[in-house]
Formats: sequence, structure tokens, C-alpha cells
Amino acid sequence: MAKTIGVLAVQGAFIEHIHALRQLGVNTFEIRQKSDLEKNSPDGIILPGGESTVMGKLLHELDLFIPLKDRIASGMPIFGTCAGVILLAKEIDNDPTTYFSAMDIAVERNAYGRQLGSFQAYEEFSDLGKVPMTFIRAPKITKVFGDTEILSTVNNDIVAARQNNMLATTFHPELSDNPVIHKYFLDTFL
Ligand code: GLN
Repeated sequence: MAKTIGVLAVQGAFIEHIHALRQLGVNTFEIRQKSDLEKNSPDGIILPGGESTVMGKLLHELDLFIPLKDRIASGMPIFGTCAGVILLAKEIDNDPTTYFSAMDIAVERNAYGRQLGSFQAYEEFSDLGKVPMTFIRAPKITKVFGDTEILSTVNNDIVAARQNNMLATTFHPELSDNPVIHKYFLDTFL
């Protein structure tokens, strides 16, 4: 049976994730309010890129924070991209705030500075070979701890990691034509 993935859709780059998932024949729905999570029973959830501070604020205002945190804690497969990684991290180097505080990683927000705000790379990802990566005002994963596993680095910076039910990429896999990383998430976590 086709799997169902909910994509957090309060802000940011969620539409592109929906398109990537549809290419893979997955059922999708947008998580805009609490009832979206209750009406649908997702097999996994994507936390997209955007602005983590804005998303964090909206998650609380829309009463989505606790329901999502509970699902993450209960082992639901979660894929965080860019700002989504910041939402998952237990430590944010340059910000006292944390959000779901679920994954044993430290991140630095906007870590590539103004000049390198956006760039492309083509690098090895786990055992998938080289994949295209688009970075947009991306964070860096500055540290992994616990049993977090590094999946990919670009110029020695960690750009992808996994731990238990969580997958994190600091780049935007939804912006490439070939949804290989989404397929990896579905194949490996669901
Ligand atoms: N700069 C954003 C933040 O700090 C992340 C950027 C993105 O998700 N593309 O939240």
C-alpha cells in the first residue's frame, strides 16, 4: 500500500517536497494545523526548509509543537531539511533557543555567511554515490554525538546525518530533479 507522508506547511519550501514525494508515488498531505495530523495517519513527516525562528513561533501558535514533538519521540520517521534540521537539533551554537531538541547534533545557523548564502555541490551521500545538493542560507552540523551517524560531508562540513528515526540534510533535496534523497528516506526509515 502506498505510504503517506505529512509535510509541515506553516512556512517555507514545502510544496517542492510534496512534488518530490508525488514523483515517488507517495500520498502526501500538508500539516497546517493540529487537525491535519489527527485526520491523517502519516507514516512519516517532513520538516522543510524556511526560517526556523518563524516556524518555531508558528508551531507554538498553531498548537502543532507538542503533537509533532510527541510523534518524533514515539519514533515516527522524520526528515528535516535545512531549517528543519535546526528544529530537530539538541544544540544551536549561535542561538539560545532550541525547538524539538530531539537529535544528537549541534548546528550553526546561517553558517556559510552572506557571500556563500546559496551554492550547489555534488557529493557522496551514504552509499548512494554522488548526489546534487542545493544550499540556501544553510546551517552547518558542527557536531554529532550519541549514536548519530554522519551520511555526507562537503568540504569537511557535515551536511547530512541520521539517528534512530531521524534524517537530517542541511541542503534542499526537494530542489533537485531526481528525488533520490526522498527515496532514501522512504526506503530506509519507513
Ligand atoms: N537560514 C534559515 C534558518 O536559520 C534556514 C534556511 C533554509 O531553510 N533554507 O532558519
